[in-house]
Amino acid sequence: MSEHSKVIEEYLLTLYKIDRSGEKAKAVTLANRLETSPPTVHATISRMQRDGLVDVKKSKVVSLTKEGQKVAEDIAYRHNLSEYFLCNTLGIPWYEVHQHAHLLEHAMTPVVVKKLAEFLGNPEFCPHGTPMPGKALPENTIALMESKPGMTVEITMIGEVLEDSVDLMKILQEHQIMPGNKHKVVEKTNVMRTISLESEKGPTSIPFHVAEEIFVFEVSPGKTSSRQQ
Ligand SMILES: [Zn+2]
Ligand SMILES: [Zn+2]
Repeated sequence: MSEHSKVIEEYLLTLYKIDRSGEKAKAVTLANRLETSPPTVHATISRMQRDGLVDVKKSKVVSLTKEGQKVAEDIAYRHNLSEYFLCNTLGIPWYEVHQHAHLLEHAMTPVVVKKLAEFLGNPEFCPHGTPMPGKALPENTIALMESKPGMTVEITMIGEVLEDSVDLMKILQEHQIMPGNKHKVVEKTNVMRTISLESEKGPTSIPFHVAEEIFVFEVSPGKTSSRQQ
């Protein structure tokens, strides 16, 4: 069993995600993401610093130590594995598995993690396309926001920030904006600030701020999926 409390695990996972998205984490960033007060964050960060899990620079940027990174990767793995299990084995809807995995991830012993990974055939991505620690997205991956009209794109990942909104995820699923599915980019309108997509299931409009968090790569129309989900 993990020797760290659920709260510490949440902090580590959040720092890990911020780092993976290429941003810098300060106490304010953490307070916003974790919906808690800055004094609480300061107290927890001091505790984590004492335990050798994080470093706090003069610039107030909080970063994971090697040990912190190791623990965070382990939690991220447990999270993604839980999602995969809930979605593909138990049949819980794709749009809501994140919420359930959020609780399960803290309750798995190393034996359970190992056996579950074996049972699932060692998946490399969560159902939303997030790579397991150590794995990466295809090299030609871009944000949907960077795609151009006329392109046919295959969805590769729904950014983890979007997973928090069940309502949004439900809409994405209804429109088949899910890893492995292909869509044609029809139009990008600055007035409406949306990207229009077209697939076999029909047309969809994605607001720019959501398109920033959806990741795709260009495919030639009719080409088969590069990986199976
Ligand atoms: Zn998730
Ligand atoms: Zn996921």
